[in-house]
Amino acid sequence: GNPICECYSCYGGIDCSLFSSNCSANVESGDPLFLEPFWMQNADSSAVVVAGWHRMSYVFPNNQSFISKELEKSIRKIHAIAKNAITYGKYIIFGTGSTQLLHAAGHALYMDNNYSTKVVANKIPYYSLYKLQTEYFQTRHCEFGGDSSMLKNNSDFAGNVIEFVTSPNNPDGSLDSPVLNGPNVKHIYDHAYYWSHYTAIPAPADEDLMIFSMSKLTGHAGSRFGWAIVKDVNVYTRMMEFIDLAEMGTSKDVQLRALTLLKVVAQGGGKQLFNFAQQILTDRWKKVSHIFSLTKRFSLQTIPTQYCTFFERTREPSPEIGVALMATYAWVKCKRTEDKNCQEVFRVAKIIGRSSRAFYAGDCYVRFSLVMDQQDFDMLIHRLKELISQEYEAS
Ligand code: PMP
Repeated sequence: GNPICECYSCYGGIDCSLFSSNCSANVESGDPLFLEPFWMQNADSSAVVVAGWHRMSYVFPNNQSFISKELEKSIRKIHAIAKNAITYGKYIIFGTGSTQLLHAAGHALYMDNNYSTKVVANKIPYYSLYKLQTEYFQTRHCEFGGDSSMLKNNSDFAGNVIEFVTSPNNPDGSLDSPVLNGPNVKHIYDHAYYWSHYTAIPAPADEDLMIFSMSKLTGHAGSRFGWAIVKDVNVYTRMMEFIDLAEMGTSKDVQLRALTLLKVVAQGGGKQLFNFAQQILTDRWKKVSHIFSLTKRFSLQTIPTQYCTFFERTREPSPEIGVALMATYAWVKCKRTEDKNCQEVFRVAKIIGRSSRAFYAGDCYVRFSLVMDQQDFDMLIHRLKELISQEYEAS
């Protein structure tokens, strides 16, 4: 703790230059701070200055709506540039992060049902929010039913089903499709990570209800801004109702900031941010997968090589490590039976990750974030090398 400058957690002293050798790599959170240097390079064009009299009203003066039409246009444009979603003929709804929109989407779909609805995540491991929101808000007639395999094997269930499909998946990055289909099943696609930063984009997504987030596109998680792309007018109306009743629309200040940021993203055909992000995460994935190729004690998820329409080439496997792509998170398995609690094994080795228990997948895995700032990532690599070299010393 230095009271004047806020030092990175492994450093101290007056000018933050003292390295503390017993500090841990903290790679627990999915805060995408790896994008901060991009915004430093574009500091002037991305700055927002708001005069005191500006945007005081509840609504935008030109259309009397809670939603900026200009921002809506920018979002459609970014999807066209990124080639990751088809927005034509669909409605766009803004929310306070995708967190609020996931809730609103669930609500809009539950309201169609007058009787028992099971809410499920498409597979284990899954992002915990779907379960936590369903249970915390105790939505009428709804029950969280775990992952979709629970229903697939249970042919007796005759009620309605809402399946959350996280693609790419948090934590393991897989591009997933729905498991359940049929007239009583509705899907909510959580596409927070469906950007070429984090995954190959084999084709633009064209589902009826898709949710995206500014947090993962530009890294501005603290602004709390996300959007849903919705095909059906009734679902759209109900989601809008939800947002209006919950908070009378989304902050105009945030919409102004989002517009400014998206204009920078779209500059020059939009490749600048996408290239920047892809380069960093490809490089990080290469480093992490190289380290895990040296150990028998742990294993890393594999990411298949896929054609990416955005970069218009196949992401080639790199000769030295087999498959070199990128991912948002490293999803690591502890293979020894004595390593019962994987998160704990790494915690002792001074690496703080998120336990697979948080993704309803037992204790044998741990998730490390690869999207944090460079110092956190460097510390992760440093500690991983230390831990894995012990294996060689022991043998
Ligand atoms: N969906 C997934 C899969 C996530 O990982 C996250 C955040 N880590 C969110 C949604 C929520 O993001 P936000 O509310 O910041 O848009």
